[in-house]
Amino acid sequence: MIGGMCTIASAYRLRAVLAFVAFGLACSSSAPVQPPAESARAFLKDANETLLRLGIESNQAGWVQQTFITLDTEAINARASEAYMTAATGFAKRATQFDGVELTPDERRQLTLLKNFLTMAAPADPKEAAELAQLAASLDGIYGRGKYCPGGESGDACLDVEEITEILARDRNPARLLEVWDGWHSIAPPMKKGYARFVELSNKGARELGFADTGAMWRSKYDMPADAFAKELDRLWGQLRPLYLSLHTYVRARLRQRYGEAVPADGPIPAHLLGNIWAQDWSNVYPDVAPPGGTRAVDLTPVLRARRITPVEMTRYGERFFTSLGFEPLPATFWERSLFVKPRDREVVCHASAWNINQVDDLRFKMCIDQTAEDFTVIHHELGHDFYSRAYSGLPPVLRDSANDGFHEAIGDTIALSVTPEYLVKVGLIPQAPDSSGDIGLLLRTALERLAFLPFGLVVDAWRWQVFDGTVTPETYNKAWWDLRERYQGVRPAAPRGEEFFDPGAKYHVPANTPYTRYFLAAVLQFQFHRALTQAAGCTTPLHRCSIYGSAEAGRRLKAALEMGASKPWPDTLEALTGQRQMDASAMADYYAPLKVWLDQQNQGQKAGW
Ligand SMILES: [Zn+2]
Repeated sequence: MIGGMCTIASAYRLRAVLAFVAFGLACSSSAPVQPPAESARAFLKDANETLLRLGIESNQAGWVQQTFITLDTEAINARASEAYMTAATGFAKRATQFDGVELTPDERRQLTLLKNFLTMAAPADPKEAAELAQLAASLDGIYGRGKYCPGGESGDACLDVEEITEILARDRNPARLLEVWDGWHSIAPPMKKGYARFVELSNKGARELGFADTGAMWRSKYDMPADAFAKELDRLWGQLRPLYLSLHTYVRARLRQRYGEAVPADGPIPAHLLGNIWAQDWSNVYPDVAPPGGTRAVDLTPVLRARRITPVEMTRYGERFFTSLGFEPLPATFWERSLFVKPRDREVVCHASAWNINQVDDLRFKMCIDQTAEDFTVIHHELGHDFYSRAYSGLPPVLRDSANDGFHEAIGDTIALSVTPEYLVKVGLIPQAPDSSGDIGLLLRTALERLAFLPFGLVVDAWRWQVFDGTVTPETYNKAWWDLRERYQGVRPAAPRGEEFFDPGAKYHVPANTPYTRYFLAAVLQFQFHRALTQAAGCTTPLHRCSIYGSAEAGRRLKAALEMGASKPWPDTLEALTGQRQMDASAMADYYAPLKVWLDQQNQGQKAGW
C-alpha cells in the first residue's frame, strides 16, 4: 500500500533503504591471480553467502526491535542494518570489475542485480564520501524532527506530521487547512542547500560507477534503457489520464460546492483541500463527494465482531485464500512466532509488515489486528508478501527479490483486490452478496485512493530525474516542482511558492532519498495482474466483483511468476503471470469503467481539465 501501509521485511526491505556507506574499490594486491570467470564466481559465492548471513542477522535484529522497542534494540538493529548496507555497497561497487567477463546468464543476472543495488553511490574520495553520508543523515534528520509550531510556540503546541495529517483529513475549515499545510511545508527550506550539495556528490559517485547521474542509476534497475523506461511511464499514464480527468473534474465541482470560489470552476484544485498533505490520496474527501443516497455495501466489521472472529482466525481466512490457489499452508512457526495483537506490556511498531527472517521459510507477520473489514483485507495483502518471499526462496540469495521493485506491493494488492463480496460469501462470512447498486460508491472510494495517487506517483521522480540530470537547478527547484504537480495532478498551491521554499523536501522520500516510481508501478500492475488472473479463473462478472479464490489455474499462474523472483528480467515474469510482456494500464481503466460512465454523467456541462 502507498505511503507505507505495510512493508515486506527481508532482503527486499533492506534494498529499499538508504545506502550511504562509503566503500572503496580496494582489492588485495597479494591475492593469487585467477582466471576472470573463476574470480567472478568466487565473488558471487562470497556475495551470496555474506548477504544471506547479514540479511538474516538484520532481519532478526529488526524483528526484535519492532516487537520490543527499547533504546537497546534500536541500537542493535541500527548496527545490523549498517553491517548489511556496508557489505552490499561494497559488493555493488566490486561487481563492476566483472563487466567484460564471460559468464552464464544466471551469473550475469546476479552481477547486474548487485550493481543496481545502490540508491546512492558514494564518491571514491573519502572526504566527499563522508560529506555525502553526513548530508544524507542530516536531511533525513531534519524531516524526522520536522514540526510546525503555531505562532512560534514550542513543546506540546507543536504539530508533527501525524497530527497535521489528521487535521487535513478531518478538518473542514479552509483557513485551518491552509495554516497547517503551510506549517508542514515550513520544515523544508533548511534542507535546500544541503540537498543541492547532496545531488552534486551523489551524481559524482554514480558517474564513477558508469552511470550518467543518480537518476539514470535508479532507472537502470528496470531491465531497459533509462530513457525507454521514462517513456514507458508516460505511455502508461496516457492510458489512464482520461479516467483521472473525469475524477478530477467531478471532485473539483463537489469541492467547489463546499468551499466556493476558493476552488476554481476550470483550473487546478488548491492542494490543501484534498484531505492529504501531498494531495496524493483523496479518500478523506469521500464524505464530501459521495454519491447521493450513500452506498449500500457489505459491512464485514459487525460480522467479525458478532461472530467473535479473533485476529488469529482472521489470519486463517487469509491463509485459506492461498491454499485455495494451491499454495502450501503456512509453517507452524508462523503461528508461533508472529505478532497478531498489540501487546499490553511493551511498545511495538503496529504498522503492518510481513517478514521472512531466514529468507527461506521462517515467515512472520506483524500487525496489531482489529476486528475490522479493513484489517481483514490488509491481512490478505501482507500474506501476499510472505507467500511471495517463500516462493522465490529456492533461488541464490541475490535473486530472492521481486521481479522489479513494483512487484512486491502489487502482488499484495492483487490479492486484496480479490477480497470481494462474492469471496466473503464463499467462505461463509456473509449469506449473500449485495446487488450492484452500491458499487459506484465503492469504486469511487477506492479511486480516490488509488487513481488519485497515480500522477503524484510520477511527479516525485520526474522532478528528481530532472534535478539529477541538471535540467533543473537550485534556482528553479520549487518552480519545477509545482509545474509538474500542476501538469500531472492538476493541483496548485493556494498562493505562489517562490524559491525561498523547498516544497519537495516536505515529502519524506526526497530527504530520505528513496525512489518513488515503484509505487506508481505497483498501482498499475496490480490491476493488470488482477485482470489476467480473473480471466484465468474464468470470471465473467465485472472486474471489481471477481475473486480468484479457489481457482487452481489462477494459482498455477501466480505461483509460476512468484517462484521466478528476480532471476529473470521483469517482462519474463510479467508474461508468466499475464501473458503480456508490456505493462498495461488499460486493466485499471477496465476496472473503473463503470465509475467512469457515472462520473461523465455527473460531469455534464463541466469543463474537464485545467
Ligand atoms: Zn505491502
